[in-house]
Amino acid sequence: MKALCWEGVGKLAVRDVPEPTIQKDGDAIIRVRASSVCGSDLHLINGYLPAMREGDILGHEFMGEVVEVGPAVRNSRIGDRVVVGSGLACGGCWYCRTEQYSLCDNSNPQPDLTEKLWGHAPAGIIGYSQASGGFAGSHAEYVRVPYADVGVFPVPDGVPDDAVVFASDAMPTGWMAADFCALSGGEVVAVWGAGAVGQMAARSAQLLDAERVIVIDRLPERLAAAAARLGVETIDYSQVDALEALREMTGGRGPDACIEAVGMEAHGAGPTYGYDRVKQAVRLQSDRPTAVRQAILACRKGGTVSIVGVFSGFVDKFPLGAAMNKALVLRMGQMHAQRYIPMLLQRLVDGQIDPGYLTTHPMSLADGPRGYEIFEKKQDGCLRAVLHP
Ligand code: NAD
Ligand code: ZN
Repeated sequence: MKALCWEGVGKLAVRDVPEPTIQKDGDAIIRVRASSVCGSDLHLINGYLPAMREGDILGHEFMGEVVEVGPAVRNSRIGDRVVVGSGLACGGCWYCRTEQYSLCDNSNPQPDLTEKLWGHAPAGIIGYSQASGGFAGSHAEYVRVPYADVGVFPVPDGVPDDAVVFASDAMPTGWMAADFCALSGGEVVAVWGAGAVGQMAARSAQLLDAERVIVIDRLPERLAAAAARLGVETIDYSQVDALEALREMTGGRGPDACIEAVGMEAHGAGPTYGYDRVKQAVRLQSDRPTAVRQAILACRKGGTVSIVGVFSGFVDKFPLGAAMNKALVLRMGQMHAQRYIPMLLQRLVDGQIDPGYLTTHPMSLADGPRGYEIFEKKQDGCLRAVLHP
């Protein structure tokens, strides 16, 4: 079958690879119908997360059709149209039983690769490097999904592939970002990053009763999409000082909650290997207005800063003094897909969330490398390129 493979830093190619097979009783094989590029892939492609191996298949935000199940699978049947949570969870460990699926103890079979870096290895993720378990990704005709009874969800009729695909990752991530803010109604929420994750975080904050949502980015098409589709206020940080603008818009007090949906490249965070790249990153970060720093400085006293942008190594100039003295609540993490997907599918059916507009570039698998180029360079108003193997 054809698959989109990583071939070294910045290099992608479509290759012929063997089809996946059932390896464990709880596995399912999915024929992929839609598989999206994600901001998280850029960290892998550019070498910011450890342990990509040449030939690794990318892709973790996807939906498709069940074509084969292992003997222990109960919740999926051949022919089901399904969406799959990007993160893998066993469903039985203490973390899974307490719905902290992205911290699952069992779904990363290669924990030694990240234990030293982070103290504990988080869960496995499909198509997300050897550090996240070494699972082949979904930018392929077929993909193997372990723990299918926990992470595979039937898709309601009438919701198009190119919309429901975001229930895999961008929607639950955005929801978790807003959920972290513990909104009780009437708050002002600021969101850094108008990518798919930021857009879904903004929509989720509205659904969780924020009174005002303000989205910050420098890409006019993305800000315009957020304003038109969601009715949020926007700040173009390339035109105005975002901190000053936020102060003015909130009568001097600052937003009640600040969501970071940007991630590490924009912060010049240290790539996890290669001393030269770390030095380069340290130089970069000193003269950039990073989103984490701004979120902490902008947030009102006693407010919440919710970080869902992905980080891997070290980030310097983290204003811990501001966070401490303003008594901020800091929350962060990889999303708990399985906790949120059923509720989000219902909201898709009800029309409360309509993420179809995120698919600006539907493409064939063969066009995948070009899709990533357009997405990374943010050309042509690209929010998401969605591949159809
Ligand atoms: P994306 O690349 O499409 O969007 C990122 C946006 O941030 C861009 O529009 C960019 O212009 C903007 N940006 C850059 N610097 C900024 C700054 N200083 N202030 C404000 N905006 C800035 O990415 P995406 O797919 O929307 O993903 C966003 C982040 O979320 C990535 O880091 C990704 O890895 C992460 N993510 C996390 C999870 C999770 O489980 N926590 C899941 C999916 C994605
Ligand atoms: Zn588990």
